[in-house]
Amino acid sequence: MVDYSELTCHELKEMIDKREASSEEIINSVFERIHKLESKIHAYISLFRDSALEEAIIIDERIRKGEAVGKLSGIPIAVKDIISTKDKITTCGSKILENYIPPFDATVIERIKKEGAIIIGKTNMDEFAMGSSTENSAFGHSRNPWSLEHVTGGSSGGSAAALAADETILALGSDTGGSIRCPASFCSIVGLKPTYGLVSRYGLVAYANSLEQIGPMAKDVTDCALLLSIINGNDYRDSTSAPFPNKNYMNALVDDVRGFTLGVPREFFGEGTDSAVEKLVWNAIHKFEDLGAHYEEISMPHIVYSIPTYYLIAMCEASSNLARFDGIRYGFRAEKDGADWNEVFSLTRQKGFGPEVKRRIILGTFALSAGYYDKYYLKALQIRTLIKNDFEKALSKYSALIAPTMPTPPFKIGEKIEDPLSMYMIDIDTVPINLAGVPSISIPCGFVNNLPVGMQIIGRFFDEETIIRLAYSYEQNTVFHRKKPNL
Ligand code: GLN
Repeated sequence: MVDYSELTCHELKEMIDKREASSEEIINSVFERIHKLESKIHAYISLFRDSALEEAIIIDERIRKGEAVGKLSGIPIAVKDIISTKDKITTCGSKILENYIPPFDATVIERIKKEGAIIIGKTNMDEFAMGSSTENSAFGHSRNPWSLEHVTGGSSGGSAAALAADETILALGSDTGGSIRCPASFCSIVGLKPTYGLVSRYGLVAYANSLEQIGPMAKDVTDCALLLSIINGNDYRDSTSAPFPNKNYMNALVDDVRGFTLGVPREFFGEGTDSAVEKLVWNAIHKFEDLGAHYEEISMPHIVYSIPTYYLIAMCEASSNLARFDGIRYGFRAEKDGADWNEVFSLTRQKGFGPEVKRRIILGTFALSAGYYDKYYLKALQIRTLIKNDFEKALSKYSALIAPTMPTPPFKIGEKIEDPLSMYMIDIDTVPINLAGVPSISIPCGFVNNLPVGMQIIGRFFDEETIIRLAYSYEQNTVFHRKKPNL
């Protein structure tokens, strides 16, 4: 049997169109791969083999009859377990939602289903997307397909690992402060954090609403553009959704970057940046130069304040968002005879949330409390504006900015989990982008001792075309995205 699992969505679509492959064969191929590797990788929290096969058979039948089908018809997709899926468990990587079954689909799910995509499973993640390694999952961590002792990155680590291990064809993630790009970098796949407001957040369980976006994760830039083309566009159910109609990004796939200008902000190569990572990103910048783009080194002085600014805002928003998990309306409830509502509420949260989530709720509540609000939260909002201004200034001059996605290659499982601050610090290159709201794509740009390294291409507000074009050109002229882990 042909192994379809190692192919991309655009390759498989072509085969389906030419009747060289059926959706049923593709689903079987991917599940065979999952069967073989999942005990090692643990990319998924739940899997839906039966429903996936049923859907595949129906789609194959429609194709046989010559009926019109959607742009993702018959293609397997893995969905981060923080995106609501109707009648399918959505845990957010938390014990508190271990048996929560949403009664509705997120807008992005409605859109991919309308195009015929088949949801094969929900992927592992840090609890409520809080983390950079998936080690905060209540269901155990995932493992990096490139080296099983290393983390996948996070929080969308399951989605990235599933792609890298060919346990899916496409995936969805969410990115509050790097959760799509960090695991994309660590697993050598492509991930895009859209401009704030481009993709509907309706049905995304909120962690820090002013920062997060759902975005595509894929094996190459073409698939990434394809999935973004389907999920973007205005949605009346999300009040922060931008008032733009759906846009197609496939015409941004042009292998020509002549005349493009790139800014290289020095602050993204600061203290803590691994010299091998720095070298690989510079190689990529010189590649762009060879391809006809120009670059200049620049300074964005407020980037250095990004970590405290981001963590303050994210924790404040989290403390408010997570108040809804009270043991009454959703999922898990701690039972105790004779307990009143207050006791049940505390006990449920004590037993239902993991340590990192509790830490953030407590810190966020503190920072928002009377007397401290101005000192912390308000200050953070002011610095956020300065960081945003840095981006606007830089991007008014350059077509895009280039930076490492992560300051280091993936680290070892267990290495940082006991020291939250060291875990927060590695988000230094991803969180400024969410504070500003601009789009950024992470693509593979090399390896250090067989461990993946990614770079970011950061664009202007709602100018996903430019970063996709730059990423596509780079990919067409390099080989890193074709390399596969030895599994
Ligand atoms: N690592 C960051 C955090 O823990 C970002 C996570 C995310 O993007 N969801 O908040």
